Amino acid sequence: MNLSNVKNINLERVYRLIYLSRSLSRPEIAERLGLSLPTVARCVSELSAAGLIATDGFFQSSGGRKAAIVSCVPDARIALGAEIRKRRARLCAVDLYGNVLAERKLELPFRADDDYCVRLGSEIANFFIGLNLPRDRVLGVGVSIQGSVDRTTGRVTFGAVLNADGFSPEQLARHLPFPCVLRHDSEASALSALWRESAPGDTLYVMLDRNLGGAVILNGAVHGGAHLPSGLIEHMTLIPGGRPCYCGKCGCVESYCSAGALEMDAGMPLAEFFQRLRGGDARCAEVWMDYLSHLSAAIYSAQMILDAEVLLGGEVARYMKEEDVAALTELALRDSGIARDTGLPLIRLSQRSDSAAGAALHYIEEYLAQYGI
Ligand SMILES: [Zn+2]
Repeated sequence: MNLSNVKNINLERVYRLIYLSRSLSRPEIAERLGLSLPTVARCVSELSAAGLIATDGFFQSSGGRKAAIVSCVPDARIALGAEIRKRRARLCAVDLYGNVLAERKLELPFRADDDYCVRLGSEIANFFIGLNLPRDRVLGVGVSIQGSVDRTTGRVTFGAVLNADGFSPEQLARHLPFPCVLRHDSEASALSALWRESAPGDTLYVMLDRNLGGAVILNGAVHGGAHLPSGLIEHMTLIPGGRPCYCGKCGCVESYCSAGALEMDAGMPLAEFFQRLRGGDARCAEVWMDYLSHLSAAIYSAQMILDAEVLLGGEVARYMKEEDVAALTELALRDSGIARDTGLPLIRLSQRSDSAAGAALHYIEEYLAQYGI
């Protein structure tokens, strides 16, 4: 190992500690990393010059010289996120801690062609200008799309919801001043839930959105399948020969447990449905119990493969209360056979999942990984 490697390793260790601790003093850094004060001072000075950290203010001291506060600069690097939907899009910017700095909603119907990419590219560029940040802080644009994304090519391989088969990040990148990747929407939503909730290492994430989605989280990371994304709970068969699904099959979980299916069964928008449900409407209560019953069956089947905590996100989860989670757990246990005595499954709500932010976090995770974070 040569001297410059040692220097780089020290620089990485110092940045990692400051990032994880948010702020601390030079003597604390030296003590916790077993480094000399001059080495720490050199690293702090280099990281400050790069804009990654800042020295501002002093810690309280009971005597002697006060120690300067060295802090991480959260927006030293940012990533942009875009969520593509059939009729609209949503943009956001996230900092190195996954905080959403700004967001914008757009009425922009999706089409997998150049005109759409020109418009979305220009909206993203304008959104970035509004942030008033230097260009070199942007790591890239993560785009969440309703479709399976091939791990090797980065293209959409199955995008029936949006008619987006073959859509590629290069199509959009041509109209962007930043690099760009596509991410399957439920994977992106799961990643944002992972950052916001203290989810355990292994989790089954179920996104109760207009179209259902799922993701398997193993050892704290979203698990990618060999070809398709893993955790596609939406296309598991719930009722053989049941309602048709957009995938071409019949009886998929999608056709019973998506927000779209719930709205169709209720015959009204989600907001009105939940308002009536909470107000004691008997028909809405019946529709809701049917929905929970189907969802519990899907969760139970998935749990037989992956014995892990279940995290519910997406539109329906935003309306759910703890009493609904209790009812869902009860239903899953009632039919659960072998799991009855274990008290499983443990179901939790993640009411702040955000697939635009999750897609942006792809770049944040890539950036932090070089510091071993
Ligand atoms: Zn299906």
